[in-house]
Amino acid sequence: MLRFILALLALAGLASSASAETHSGGGETWSIAIHGGAGTIERSRLTPEKDAEIRAALQKALDAGSKILRDGGSSMEAIKAAIVLLENDPNFNAGKGAVYTWEETNSLDSSIMDGSDLSAGAVAGVSRTKNPILLAEAVKDKSPHVLLSGKGADQFSKEQGLEQVDPEYFATPRRLKQIKDFKAKRVSRADVDYKFGTVGAVAMDQKGNMAAGTSTGGMTGKRWGRIGDSPIIGAGTYADDRSCAVSATGSGEYFIRIGVAQEICTRIRLRFPAAIKEAQLSVPKDADGHYKYAIHASEFMLDDKEIQQIADDVIADMGALGGSGGVIIATPWGQAIYSFDTKGMYRGRATSEGENSVAIYGNE
Ligand code: ASP
Repeated sequence: MLRFILALLALAGLASSASAETHSGGGETWSIAIHGGAGTIERSRLTPEKDAEIRAALQKALDAGSKILRDGGSSMEAIKAAIVLLENDPNFNAGKGAVYTWEETNSLDSSIMDGSDLSAGAVAGVSRTKNPILLAEAVKDKSPHVLLSGKGADQFSKEQGLEQVDPEYFATPRRLKQIKDFKAKRVSRADVDYKFGTVGAVAMDQKGNMAAGTSTGGMTGKRWGRIGDSPIIGAGTYADDRSCAVSATGSGEYFIRIGVAQEICTRIRLRFPAAIKEAQLSVPKDADGHYKYAIHASEFMLDDKEIQQIADDVIADMGALGGSGGVIIATPWGQAIYSFDTKGMYRGRATSEGENSVAIYGNE
């Protein structure tokens, strides 16, 4: 929380982070949300065994992230831990289990963003890194760039010493059948793969820092080097301590056109600066001319309903263009929120307030 307030003040040029103190706030608040894709996920499509398997996988990823946050770890570490587990699980369209391209290869996209400094990294069309989310992080931390693609990204991965695998590692018989069926035009993309199985996580840690990450195999049958929203900062992933952290899943083209992830964060952020700036003006200054304390942002917090409305509005805008899918959102106030226009979304959330649940279908 403190970081959030300071970020707001820094933005408004009101206080330096070294001198400002807060009235109250901070504490042990944390939250995390994860997803494993959205789509026409209905009870009739999943066997009880599959249903249980997916729930267990989501819970495992959620638990890994929650533990890090509960123990005082960073939101970046928490989202990475959750995403790596989901990437390694063939049930999801990310890492092992990624869908196939038209050429019957697996081509992976991923991105990550740190809300404390807006640093970001992403990769598109990689095929040799076991965990693309770790490569996205390496791009963020070890390169001067934000987005690397194809062979160059694979080479960078090797140079960074990340775990390399043969492209065959990502291959699974279930996904191979999907692309064969798709190409034979016996079924549409929606029928072969009734969901977008992209994975993602968003979190806020006890310092109030937000992080978001997304990883995917993209869309079945993608060709011509198609890249979706998942590695596009602002579309599939966004994090900003001043507003929120978002990870998306769905028909990427539409998420790119709306800039879904950043649009949600921006709508949240723009509710605040004016009100906080005004309140801050009444706070006395110290000898150095810095405000003696920072106004506590919780006075201006948006409640769950308001965040939900903002997210639903942006998803509706995306849907109006013809797309579908969903998002997970973490806020600086410790909320973990979902919004999706599909029948279901593989999802989970946990907070310091005691929330800890996973869900699959829309009506649960
Ligand atoms: N958004 C991803 C893409 O368009 C697909 C997904 O969410 O599964 O590549």
